[in-house]
Parts: sequence; C-alpha cells; structure tokens
Amino acid sequence: MLRIPLVLELIVNAFAVPGLQISSSVVYQDILEKVHAEIAPVIGKGSLPGYIPALAEVDPASFGIALVSVTGEVAGVGEWLRPFSVQSLSKVFAFSLVLASDGAAIWHRVGHEPSVHRFDSVIDLELDRGIPRNPLVNAGALVTVDRLLSLTGDAQGELLEFLREECGNPYLEVDEVVAKSELDGAHRNAALAHLMAEFGNLHNPVAEVLAHYSRQCAIAMSCRDVALAARFLARRGVLADGTRLLPAGDTKRLNATMLVAGMYDRAGEVAYRVGLPAKSGVGGGIVAVVPNRCTLCVWSPGLDEHGNSVAGVAALDAFTTLTGWSVF
Ligand code: GLU
Repeated sequence: MLRIPLVLELIVNAFAVPGLQISSSVVYQDILEKVHAEIAPVIGKGSLPGYIPALAEVDPASFGIALVSVTGEVAGVGEWLRPFSVQSLSKVFAFSLVLASDGAAIWHRVGHEPSVHRFDSVIDLELDRGIPRNPLVNAGALVTVDRLLSLTGDAQGELLEFLREECGNPYLEVDEVVAKSELDGAHRNAALAHLMAEFGNLHNPVAEVLAHYSRQCAIAMSCRDVALAARFLARRGVLADGTRLLPAGDTKRLNATMLVAGMYDRAGEVAYRVGLPAKSGVGGGIVAVVPNRCTLCVWSPGLDEHGNSVAGVAALDAFTTLTGWSVF
C-alpha cells in the first residue's frame, strides 16, 4: 500500500481538482521520489530482449523517470538523464509527423484497433490484407516510415530533427551499434514489409524502409528528452514553441490509439492498472500522457514476457495511484 505524508496528499488532491492550476516542480519531484521508493523492489526484474543483441548489454537494474508538465516544469529521479534506446517509442513521434501532414487519410493505410498478437506478428497482417492493425506495432510503423520517406525523402533524419527541436537537445543521435544490430536481425520486419509491399501498402523499396526504421528505433534519448518531446500529446497538439503540430481531435485519436494499442498485447492490462495513454519499447522505455497535465517517461530495461518494462509499468501504476491522475 502506497503511503504518502498528509501534506503531500493535500497538495496532490488540490492538483486533482479540474481546472485548478497549482504548479511546483518541487511537488513533482517529491511525487517521483515516492514512486521510486515504492517500486524499488521490482527494479531489475524481467529479462533483456535477446533478438537485438546490442540491447542485451544494458544493466537491467537501471531505472529513471521524468515528468514534464504542460507548462514546462521538469522533474526526474534516478537515471533520468541517461540516454537509452527508444525503440518503439519512436513510433509515436514518427506517426505524429505523418498524421500532421496527411490527417485522416493515413488511417486508410493503417488501423486503430488493438492487436492480440505480438508486436512483430505477421498473422494479423495476412488476415487484414496488408493493413496493419495500428501504427504502434511494427507493421504499422513500417507503413509510417514508408509514408514519411515519400513525404520527405529522409524519414529518420526528419524524425531526429523534430525530436532535437522539441526536447531542445541538439545532440540526440542514432546509436549506430544498436542500429546495425537491429538491421542485421530484421528478418521479421523484412517479412512484414514484403507482405505489405505485396498487398500494395508499401511504396518505397523494402530495404530503404527497413534501414530508416532500424535507425529510428536506435535513436538514444533520456527520459527527460522523451517526456519533453511528447509534451504536445498532453497539450492538445501544441508544440514547445506554441505552434500546432496536430489538431486537438487528431491528438485525442492518437492518445486513444496509444491507450488501446501502445503496450503490446497487454494494453488492456496496463490500461486497467495505469489508466493512461502510453507506448512501450523493448529498450525498456515507456512514454505516458496525462492529457492537459503532463507527460512521463520511465526507463528500466527488464522486460516482462510481453515486452513491457516491469519496473516501468509498476512506476506508472504507482504514479496514478498516488496522484489520481489517470484519464479515468
Ligand atoms: N526495433 C524493435 C523491432 O523492430 C522495436 C520493437 C519495440 O520496441 O516494440 O522489433
């Protein structure tokens, strides 16, 4: 049972009143420290992904969490400034760029339903005639990369520029070792891409799409960077500089898609425990959105059998239990 001092409880409750604007990064910091203490026993639990060898070299006992409020306050605990491999967190950002350009049209090439099979499964794709279930599984992300390539000529470069800009970190880079490790073993992703090409839902050469996809997954970012870059999802589509990336309605739909499909084939379980739109990556990161309040990024590399960070899910569970800040 999570116990918090009465004073903190009163402040948190005040935060929970809709429309009330109290902000203090000290309070955010205190909340994250409580969360960290609560879930400390599970840090290090789980296993590392063997199918991308470079990812298996990380210390499973690493842990970091960052919170960025919609008004720009930043708090963090543990290794929240240490870059990790974002992997599938990149799918949210790349899809946002395509959605910003294409609007509703992109939903004809990729769905918004949950998937019941693994994130790299070919089963759904065959049954759905080359239309991926959602943009947050690998097939959907390959369509996203394909479209971003058609739009810009350099999908991964465009994404990296966007991320640098949004988190104010010009030093973000692709981890070349991870990118190579990923591409060398990309047999399933190649199968997905070829299947979609056969159904007419991939327009660029498979090898080019795979190369850009592998590099976007291999971008290294800290929890702080990710939480900052995702802030537009909590701000109804408005970017750090006040301009708009997405209409509020598209932001709502993307957040809804994250809620039902962002946590692999355990999205239901995570919605039940956490109650926030979130996206998981096999690098151990999870980005979560509290609409109109804040974004969170938690990183801890030990994964459960579905690919979600064990300590990461526990931390988000503790966070929403402590604060009451879920969408429900
Ligand atoms: N690069 C990984 C893959 O393609 C991403 C998987 C993930 O993080 O969900 O399998």
